[in-house]
Amino acid sequence: MKVGILALQGDFIEHQAMLLRLGAETVEVRLPQHLDGLDALIIPGGESTTIGKLAETYGLMEPLRQFGEQHAIWGTCAGAIFLSKDARRPQPLLGIMDIMVMRNAFGRQVDSFEVDLDTPFLPASNGHQKTFHAVFIRAPLIESVWGSARSLAALPNGRIVAARQGRLLATSFHPELTGDDRFHRYFLEMAK
Ligand code: GLN
Repeated sequence: MKVGILALQGDFIEHQAMLLRLGAETVEVRLPQHLDGLDALIIPGGESTTIGKLAETYGLMEPLRQFGEQHAIWGTCAGAIFLSKDARRPQPLLGIMDIMVMRNAFGRQVDSFEVDLDTPFLPASNGHQKTFHAVFIRAPLIESVWGSARSLAALPNGRIVAARQGRLLATSFHPELTGDDRFHRYFLEMAK
């Protein structure tokens, strides 16, 4: 499995380390031609406006949209925002997932927090429960999903923090920052 990681800005190195651990081949994607021959793509966390502007500058917007029609893409945090159709303010978005996000939804006081999410779709392997310890850093909420997008995981108050639409995956949190590789395994399964 050859997985690209959009490496314009953000925490792409951490995704790379996790994928290498799982035996996948990784490619840093900075230009359209880097998408050739990839099976899947991860868009990391960072700053979604910056990622969007750089993607425009390097001519990646249309190639990324086309890639998403045929392949799996996973956006974490800023990457999830970039996948969305609506971020409630003007910024460059791929607009390929039927989700609306609210950026920085947790305000200043809880910029960062961690919580165990119910994740019945993940195996309870490696001594982990069927919950996932999720790390949120200036995270967005997925305010609504429609069309063929589905909520995959929510906070105890019901607010959505992970969604899936076919082979597209969006998470508000950062599985690459934990030692738990089950989300990356889940994504590799999706990409097959
Ligand atoms: N706050 C960032 C944004 O709105 C996302 C933060 C992150 O990716 N950890 O784009």
